[in-house]
Amino acid sequence: MADRSELHPSTRAAQALGRVDPETRAITPPIHPSSTFERAPDGSYPGGRTYTRDHNPNYDQPEALLASLEGGQAALLFSSGMAAATTVFETLAVGDHVIAPEQRYWSIRRWLQNLAGRGRIELDLVPNGDLTALERALRPGHTQIVWVETPANPTCAITDIAATARAAHAAGARVVADSTLSTPVLCRPIEHGADLVMHSATKQLTGHAAVLAGALVTARQDEHWARIAQDRGSRGAVLGPFEAWLLLRGMRTLFLRVPRSAASAQRIAERLASNPGVVEVFYPGLPSHPDHAVAARQMSGGYGMLVSFRVSGGAAQARDVASRLRLFRNATSLGGVESLVEHRAPVEGPGTPVPDDLLRLSIGIESVDDLLADLDQALRAVPAQGAR
Ligand code: PLP
Repeated sequence: MADRSELHPSTRAAQALGRVDPETRAITPPIHPSSTFERAPDGSYPGGRTYTRDHNPNYDQPEALLASLEGGQAALLFSSGMAAATTVFETLAVGDHVIAPEQRYWSIRRWLQNLAGRGRIELDLVPNGDLTALERALRPGHTQIVWVETPANPTCAITDIAATARAAHAAGARVVADSTLSTPVLCRPIEHGADLVMHSATKQLTGHAAVLAGALVTARQDEHWARIAQDRGSRGAVLGPFEAWLLLRGMRTLFLRVPRSAASAQRIAERLASNPGVVEVFYPGLPSHPDHAVAARQMSGGYGMLVSFRVSGGAAQARDVASRLRLFRNATSLGGVESLVEHRAPVEGPGTPVPDDLLRLSIGIESVDDLLADLDQALRAVPAQGAR
């Protein structure tokens, strides 16, 4: 399939690279539920496929589209974001050294700590975006992976991918960027030096809260990538054909949904920042964000759909605000067309770096005025900061 790289990414996405089914000329691709594919009498596979755990035809188009949008050489779909992330670490040798950020999607952090606890890897957690701490932690020749999540879920901490890649590459390590909160609409980590990009495609790539999926994109089809592809097939961490089809359908509207929710998130962050019942707002689009300048340099077209804020009065007030919201659904996850709120610390449990009064908002594509009015009414009863 030609990647049509000369076309604007929004055109490539809307037309899913312009592929038409060669047999029926269908514009919308058919779904191939077949688990197995026929051999020719000479034992070859004329269809180029053997068994769906290795390659289903419904992977081709979303993988090619995602690779094209990220500027990578290839992409692989997985059964979830966690399956994509854990596959990267499964391909490391026992005892390899990994550096990861302190603030990041909690399940991956917990899983890495678990792996390190079992002696499977050596792990250093460093403060997000702290290059001095990264350089101190790097062990040339031993560090294999430097993991980046930018913006990070849920604190929106920002990491300078280019500076991280320079330091990591000088020590012989690869950089993997979890770009779930950016999507390729807002940031393309490979352009900044990342070796692999990871997505929870469950979120804004699919966009309709109807699919669990993950993806990896590689800058180069090298030996590490071959191991990742083989591991996906061997462990069977693959996506079903219908889910792959839904993912492709969602990606076609990515360039409408992402700028819309990012523009609304910006306005919501600005409104929250001036609310006396709000202690702190975490959003990279605010000039007050400590790494706004880095975010402005490496993101374009907006700063994402995720806004977090701390409620004056502590955890109980935060919980009350979440329950008073009428339009924001009180549910986990992010990146759907509908806005969500979550009181985050109790989800992550003891030891989380997330403040216990933090609410995480995922901004959808509703009218921003309706969302602002909902937040205003839910925050009205909150005592102003410092008031008793
Ligand atoms: N990375 C980030 C930033 C996430 O927010 C999530 C899930 O919330 C994951 C990875 C894991 O993805 P999944 O839930 O698709 O396994």
